[in-house]
Amino acid sequence: MNHNQFLDYNSAYPCPVCRHGEISSLALMEAYACNFCQHIFTANLEKQVLKMADSQIALTWFWNGQNWKGVNREGVDMGWRYGIAAGLFVILPTSIVSTAAYLFPAMPGSNLSWLPIFWSFFTFFAHLSFLFWLVIEYYQFPVNLYLNSLARRLLRLFQRGGSGI
Ligand SMILES: [Zn+2]
Repeated sequence: MNHNQFLDYNSAYPCPVCRHGEISSLALMEAYACNFCQHIFTANLEKQVLKMADSQIALTWFWNGQNWKGVNREGVDMGWRYGIAAGLFVILPTSIVSTAAYLFPAMPGSNLSWLPIFWSFFTFFAHLSFLFWLVIEYYQFPVNLYLNSLARRLLRLFQRGGSGI
């Protein structure tokens, strides 16, 4: 599918939300609508930027001629810093706990000798799962929208099928 290299109101573009439908401009309006998820977008043609109009959260995409780039969510120069912070967030507490377990071992044969090792693993997985949760929270929004629109479409198909009988 060939899309216009520049964002204008005469062409159709892939939908940045569901990545399934096509957005095209509404008649006599400076806005786009998706033919699949039915979300409404407004555009800034000078900046080649598309904004979601019917969402509480300001989602913005930049048209690079081929596809959409998330404007707010893809800070390239910030990415590695987040990566290091995320790594430290998991590694630091785990190493502190396991170092403590190594330096102060429980009495061999005592009932709680498993506890320091267990605690080290627990710290590691607790922090790792918190990190996962953050990442999912961060990226879930478009995923949710996509699933929602898919569910809505399926529901409509079922309703149409039901009324036909
Ligand atoms: Zn869509």
